[in-house]
Amino acid sequence: MEFQYRDPEIEKMPREELLALQLQKLKTEIEIALRTPFYKERLSKAGIKSRDDIRTLDDLNRIPFTTKNDLRDGFPYGFLAIPKEEVVRLHASSGTTGVPTTIYFSRSDLKNWAGFMARCIYGAGCNKTDVFQNMITYGLFTGGLGFHQGGEEVGMLVIPAGAGNTGRQFKMMQDYGTTVLHATPSFLLHLETKMKEAGVERESLSIKRAFAGAEPYSEDTRKRIEALLKVDVYNSYGLSEMNGPGVAFECQCKAGLHIWEDGYMAEIVNPDTLEPVKDGETGELILTILCREATPILRYRTRDLTSFYTQPCECGRTHRRLRRITGRSDDMLIINGVNVFPSQIEEVIMGMKEVGNNYLIVVEKDGALDRLTVKTEISAEIFMDDSRPLNALKDKIKETLQASISINPRVELHESGSLPVTEGKAVRVKDTRPKDV
Ligand code: ADP
Ligand code: ZN
Repeated sequence: MEFQYRDPEIEKMPREELLALQLQKLKTEIEIALRTPFYKERLSKAGIKSRDDIRTLDDLNRIPFTTKNDLRDGFPYGFLAIPKEEVVRLHASSGTTGVPTTIYFSRSDLKNWAGFMARCIYGAGCNKTDVFQNMITYGLFTGGLGFHQGGEEVGMLVIPAGAGNTGRQFKMMQDYGTTVLHATPSFLLHLETKMKEAGVERESLSIKRAFAGAEPYSEDTRKRIEALLKVDVYNSYGLSEMNGPGVAFECQCKAGLHIWEDGYMAEIVNPDTLEPVKDGETGELILTILCREATPILRYRTRDLTSFYTQPCECGRTHRRLRRITGRSDDMLIINGVNVFPSQIEEVIMGMKEVGNNYLIVVEKDGALDRLTVKTEISAEIFMDDSRPLNALKDKIKETLQASISINPRVELHESGSLPVTEGKAVRVKDTRPKDV
């Protein structure tokens, strides 16, 4: 196989040099972090008062972990390391989880991010002759603009299609001769179902590759998408705290995701003890960003579970590879690519007086897509045999939930006291979707 590298010197840099580069970048990131109120306090407590207190990469262990709650507590500007007038953009994670975690970018931060993204896209075999249809949500979500800028950086013709509306997506593919797609894996599967329904001939399309990410999926799902759509599917991993997509990506070997170690330091720890796992073992991924001046984030607990490959990749890149992320160690649900916390649902339904004391969240597969059903008990004052107020209540719950979580759920009303009750801790979520391998 012919491999192509956008930054060959860095991508194939001997590991020793790469680690030396990391150390320099880590020192700089520490210097930047010390300008934020949050890290100034945290780091000085840990005895780190200047960049010179970091002497070797092992000193990383002296830096305390940063959690999503820390980021929330620091909202809105507690993690900002540059004057506000130097900030040119912000992104936020889901944005619907109460206090959003907000990430700020300077002009050079955006340039760096686009560079990493371009490295991923080019490394997957694309070039400026490609037409790239970005079928993912734009807006605060980093997937849209992240891929958009990366695509432009490679010189592809970028179509900012956005998510949804399969009919329009097919039309654009045909009109513009799209060769590369980006979407969530579930949307790619959905697209295929719709393709059959709409009678769109595969031969009328020029698609060759698809980037799939933002949610966990199995190797079987990749194979299914590849077989059905006749495209090469590449796994894309990222999170808003670390810029967004462009953190780790598959090369043409499609055997694990290279994490760009000149931009991110990766550790894998046991989520309970926070001690490093043995090489190749599964644990929680911890990330430190080395390429951002506006919002430094050190040793971030991603909650994502993965492991390192222990062997180098055939493509010649020296940056380590992560295995497919199998899920998160906390309870966040990803439904058709949208992140939802059960507590958000609880907040909505428990705030309504017509709703009873028990509820259950059910997530299942409906064809290629995920389906969310919220089962709630009704308050004992409401009678099950009077359908008018019940229908009105159903609609109200539906609308309020949709406004809060951006997903249209099914709502089922149950008689007070009829939903299962568990001993000890309540089991609120029943997720019957096949687990990833
Ligand atoms: P939030 O921070 O609210 O979760 P993000 O959009 O930043 O919102 O989501 C990032 C998360 O999405 C990751 O931490 C991970 O759990 C999940 N994710 C992203 N890409 C992948 C992927 N390729 N495989 C599995 N999970 C992924
Ligand atoms: Zn490789």
